[in-house]
Amino acid sequence: MSAGSVVAAAADVVSSGRCTGCGLCTALEPALTMTASAEGYLRPHAAGAATAGPAAFATFRTACPGLRVVAQRPAGAVRHPVLGPVLGCWEAWATDPDVRERGSSGGVLTALQAWLVATGEVARAVGAAAAPGEPRRTVPVRIVSRDEALAAAGSRYAPVAVAGHPDAAAPDGVTTGKPCEVAALRAATGPDAPLLLSFFCAGTPSQHATDRLVHDLGMPADEHVDELWYRGRGWPGRFTAVGAAGTRVSASYDESWGDALGPSVQWRCKICPDGVGESADVAAGDFWRTDERGYPVFVETAGVSALLARTPRGLDLVRRAAAAGVIALREISPDDVAAVQPLQRTRRTTLAGRLVGARLAGARLPRFPGFGLGRLAASRARQSLRTARGTYRRVRAGAAARS
Ligand SMILES: Cc1cc2nc3c(=O)[nH]c(=O)nc-3n(C[C@H](O)[C@H](O)[C@H](O)COP(=O)(O)OP(=O)(O)OC[C@H]3O[C@@H](n4cnc5c(N)ncnc54)[C@H](O)[C@@H]3O)c2cc1C
Ligand code: SF4
Repeated sequence: MSAGSVVAAAADVVSSGRCTGCGLCTALEPALTMTASAEGYLRPHAAGAATAGPAAFATFRTACPGLRVVAQRPAGAVRHPVLGPVLGCWEAWATDPDVRERGSSGGVLTALQAWLVATGEVARAVGAAAAPGEPRRTVPVRIVSRDEALAAAGSRYAPVAVAGHPDAAAPDGVTTGKPCEVAALRAATGPDAPLLLSFFCAGTPSQHATDRLVHDLGMPADEHVDELWYRGRGWPGRFTAVGAAGTRVSASYDESWGDALGPSVQWRCKICPDGVGESADVAAGDFWRTDERGYPVFVETAGVSALLARTPRGLDLVRRAAAAGVIALREISPDDVAAVQPLQRTRRTTLAGRLVGARLAGARLPRFPGFGLGRLAASRARQSLRTARGTYRRVRAGAAARS
């Protein structure tokens, strides 16, 4: 294997539309940096002579989520067909009212990070936050205090490559990332993994969608944006941008995610087997209130997260954080969580159909061993067939932007 192999292999993953934009390859090969593609997604780009050796290439082959994602089987966990491995399941929120308010749902991930760094149990946390000076962009950040954790609270529906942060894989830290980033870090680090936190994820929208939304909501082109957040400061909270001259524009979660951001999600996320953070020690999602048909109702209220412990290490963390009064918990069943997550349910049960349709249409796909996708699809044979046909047609027509 040549020293340049990570560069070539990453380029192949990108050109075949399999790249998630996680950034892991840039941590393995110093010649690679993440840069914005014309479509507004982050992709590895070679900016110098390749230096990585065979060990880095072997790690890339094992851990790049554009090549494969392996379903985890942690000790003692029961596998739920939609939610993956579960050792404990709760509705949960941060007991610190500021953290709960800033968080995307219950602020639980921020509360855990803030507690872990404040007690010195970890040397640092890694998450994602608005770029200093340009809050329309999102960057990975290092967190060493409660205030820094608070500043990184809330979901950011835009590209950011957390697995490429220099501290993301450090065994003495805690890293919060999207399911693909956490899967990459788990596969790359094995028994030396940091504590890994993740969240339910419907996919990464294009950066262009954020920029367009800010413009369409009426922010003057010549006014610098001082602050931008996608959610939080309420549940679900509003997409909000604040300009230097005091202009404030905003949109509800339904309008911002549903109409502007969600539709621009990259192709790789549409064939993702894991929207629920299966490789994490602890994963959180929205524990939505729903209408009589089971669809989420987005009425502003105090945030509540669904919280899953997936590993013995994660279960221990959740129990200790609750005992220390950092988070409040109420035990629920994984079926309660799956019931309020229609997107995750439908996506997983029809994914095998989507993969078959894409494959028949000529798309190159990552491998996803252990997720039981075939069994799930068989239980919804007609819907899976419809999905396969639709995906085949869309991929053939080139409607799915696969880059
Ligand atoms: C792109 C995206 C899609 C999502 N899709 C769903 C969904 O389909 N269903 C659902 O229930 N929930 C979804 N969420 C997650 C949800 O919004 C909450 O993050 C989750 O409920 C945890 O809430 P919390 O209040 O505990 O997290 P918080 O306390 O707000 O902490 C969130 C943590 O995530 C980090 N973070 C924020 N944005 C990103 C990012 N883009 N990449 C990596 N790390 C980031 C922050 O730095 C912070 O550490 C999505 C989030 C994102 C970013
Ligand atoms: S999926 Fe991640 S590791 Fe693989 S090529 Fe893309 S950025 Fe690199």
